Amino acid sequence: MHEYAITESILEIVQAEAARAGGGSVDEITLVVGELTTFVDSSIEFYFTEMSRGTAAEGARLRFQKLEAKAHCSGCGADFRPHNAFFTCPQCRSAVFELRQGQELFIESIEVSEPEGQDTRGD
Ligand SMILES: [Zn+2]
Repeated sequence: MHEYAITESILEIVQAEAARAGGGSVDEITLVVGELTTFVDSSIEFYFTEMSRGTAAEGARLRFQKLEAKAHCSGCGADFRPHNAFFTCPQCRSAVFELRQGQELFIESIEVSEPEGQDTRGD
């Protein structure tokens, strides 16, 4: 259910960005999702379709890019790829490590089409 809240914030950012770009409609949104998050792509898509109705983002494509998890062992200094947050270091079996990547979700890019019937002078 936390997809609802995250989709709401995504939509807010996207709408602000579309307005800044001159009020065109949003074509495509690329989201980067760390592989350790529990966000479900299809749930985000579902909420997005519902919430974006009547906004500049209606009908926009959502692209999901997965980001590999990366961890750095505090014990032996090895870098490895944990498969969940409860992983242990493959070299020394220490459970103490720093998670450096894999828990994020952010907007990588937003493509906004040119507003129709307007000139784009003056930025
Ligand atoms: Zn280690």
